[in-house]
Amino acid sequence: MSSRPLPPRPSAERIAALAEELSGADASLELLQADQPAVLERFSRDFFDYSPVLVAQLQEQRAQLVARITTVEQVQLVAGACCRHGVPLTVRGAGTGNYGQCVPLRGGLVLDLTPMNRLRRLDPLSGVLEVEAGVLMGDLERRLADQGRALRLVPSTVRSATIGGFIAGGSGGIGSLRWGFLRDPGNLLGLEIVTMEPEPRLLQLDAAASAPLNHAYGTNGILTALRLPSTEAVDWRQLVVGFGDWDQALAAAQTLPRTAFELNSLTLLEDDVAMQMPWPVGCSAPNGEHRLLLLAAPAAMEALPRWLEAGGGQLLWQSPQSCSRGIPLRELGWNHTTLHWRAGRPGWTYLQLLLPQPEGPCLAELRRRWGEAIRWHLEAVKHQGAARLACLPLLLWQGDASLQELIAHCRELGAFLFNPHVLTVEDGGLGVVDADQVAAKHAYDPMGLLNPGKLRGWLEGH
Ligand code: FAD
Repeated sequence: MSSRPLPPRPSAERIAALAEELSGADASLELLQADQPAVLERFSRDFFDYSPVLVAQLQEQRAQLVARITTVEQVQLVAGACCRHGVPLTVRGAGTGNYGQCVPLRGGLVLDLTPMNRLRRLDPLSGVLEVEAGVLMGDLERRLADQGRALRLVPSTVRSATIGGFIAGGSGGIGSLRWGFLRDPGNLLGLEIVTMEPEPRLLQLDAAASAPLNHAYGTNGILTALRLPSTEAVDWRQLVVGFGDWDQALAAAQTLPRTAFELNSLTLLEDDVAMQMPWPVGCSAPNGEHRLLLLAAPAAMEALPRWLEAGGGQLLWQSPQSCSRGIPLRELGWNHTTLHWRAGRPGWTYLQLLLPQPEGPCLAELRRRWGEAIRWHLEAVKHQGAARLACLPLLLWQGDASLQELIAHCRELGAFLFNPHVLTVEDGGLGVVDADQVAAKHAYDPMGLLNPGKLRGWLEGH
């Protein structure tokens, strides 16, 4: 097995020839070029600045050309021309990823899919939907709600991120307590893709054939449309529950997902973290308590407040999600917790863990060793069918050696780590090469021009 080099950054002449061919072939295609450096910079960034490690690697990387497309035919036109000119192509949704996923490492063209945003169909009987990849999930949610349906899983960036970017770059979020993670079989039913070849093919993939493109950072195919199951729309009740005692709060977070209360998300914030969050209108500022944030079905409200009280919790605020004023509760969890915390503390970063069970001893040991340099934020999820607690702890940045020591310590204690300080699909996951993802790249991007540098299995020559 010999390694594969990254494609070279194209010369300015090559980019000019590509731009000329594209505008000659389709005058309606929107191209943003080298004479607009601020625009090129904007389309070359995501939220990688959460990681000091990635900032050092990515802040100078720039696209050389941006194409904004509205149709599948335009995707084919751009992909074919890039191949013929040997120009790397990086697909971009809304650019809200956290790991530099859509930052072009070898320049070239960035393909902005946000103008391609139609809901093609929603089957009224099965609730299965087919939607174009560039639609913002917040817009899609509103269109589905008109039919009494909702997306199963959304990230906390639901209002600003695309559905294509979520499947290609995300992992889970609000709804993961019920539906697990995006890569769990059943959460993605099919894809329409354009291949990266001189004569690009438009392919319809079933669920099994789509799986290797799910969470592959757009390295092995351009997703133009997705088939997804939906779920019934629920006007979730937002609940903020205060706990004076951390162990009681943790016990509630461990136990609630195993009860029959219908919940769509559960977030636990340590007292210091809660202090730094913006709260919805009408919800009091914290007074030193830990806070449990819940999205609960209306039927849960008869018995849930008493249940929480019996476990040491106090219901501090509640409101239907549809009536929320100010920030909605779902923008206080997942990586929004990190966002709000870092707003006042730019010298902090974070990690992503799946905690071993029982969670208490691991958390206590990490607290003992890392003390004030770590703050706790937990999310309840379903992992391989079972209730688990994920954790997105906030870390005081003390250099790479300290980060590596903490990562090693978490692994020693039995936590699974999803490292947000690395560039490749594999290293951000379980660290192993997925042969199916690499096989899909051979089949749909044989020249290795899609988002170069992000699939380690390809670079290693698998
Ligand atoms: P982008 O960032 O534009 O792209 C992500 C990756 O997908 C890139 O590699 C890109 O090349 C590729 N891509 C995009 N569109 C396509 C396509 N059509 N075809 C092929 N490849 C494509 N993530 C979660 O999973 N859960 C969360 O709860 C969550 N919370 C977040 C909170 C904050 C504050 C921030 C900043 C980020 C969060 N994220 C979360 C990460 C990110 O917001 C989501 O994963 C989001 O869904 C990405 O969508 P996007 O449109 O911004 O994708």
